[in-house]
Amino acid sequence: MLIKAERTLYENPKMWGKTRSETVLERARLTAKAVPSDVHTILEVGSGDGLVIKSLRKAGHDPVALDISQSALQYIQGSKLIQATASQLPFPSNSFDLVLACELLEHLPISLYLDVLDEIERVAKRNIIITVPYQEKLEWNYARCPACGCIFNGSYHVRSFGERDMKFLFKKIECINLKGIVKLPHPDRTISLELFIRHRLAREYLYSGPSITCPVCLSTVDKRPKRNRIGWIASVVRYFYRMIYRKKTLLWYLAVYGKQ
Ligand SMILES: [Zn+2]
Repeated sequence: MLIKAERTLYENPKMWGKTRSETVLERARLTAKAVPSDVHTILEVGSGDGLVIKSLRKAGHDPVALDISQSALQYIQGSKLIQATASQLPFPSNSFDLVLACELLEHLPISLYLDVLDEIERVAKRNIIITVPYQEKLEWNYARCPACGCIFNGSYHVRSFGERDMKFLFKKIECINLKGIVKLPHPDRTISLELFIRHRLAREYLYSGPSITCPVCLSTVDKRPKRNRIGWIASVVRYFYRMIYRKKTLLWYLAVYGKQ
């Protein structure tokens, strides 16, 4: 089960209903496009406020949305909504032709992670679609709670995925298509030198959002932390690195799994 702090975090209304960037919308469109043609029944586990559900509906599907968060589900219209934990899906085995989990796995605490994978595999009759960030380095986006000192990934990600992780995610259902999607100069991508100066020497942690809630003490931080002089050196390193490093990188993995 999710611990109380995580439940409170995902019920925070500030988490949901935000305007999405074009890159995020593109990911949702590509996810809907990857649905195999012979699929009739669809479940999205961890649907959040319905970004992917919307794209699926636009593509002519009628997906069921499941999420732990009531405050997220209230944004979804026109689909069947189920409020439940992903580690105990309230459906018999093989209930849906396709089960999707988009931007869910990287958030799960270790106490839930393997159970959620098992549950997705149990409920999926034929196919599974997973999207996660592409080879993310969690320290690119570390934030520090000024109240309790906890250091955490600003997007609440607790694990990252490489190609091998994606290929062998499930016990019985095989990976039939794995690709990286949406190319962009990565906003969080940087180098070890900058992070060493920023985190170790300046003791400075930046976060990407305007408002963030600590996953440990649930304090909300509304202001960016004050910069210090050593932190500015890190910013100069970042600036020059971005001038030189112009190569676009992939943002997400999109993986389709199928029972043979
Ligand atoms: Zn805290």
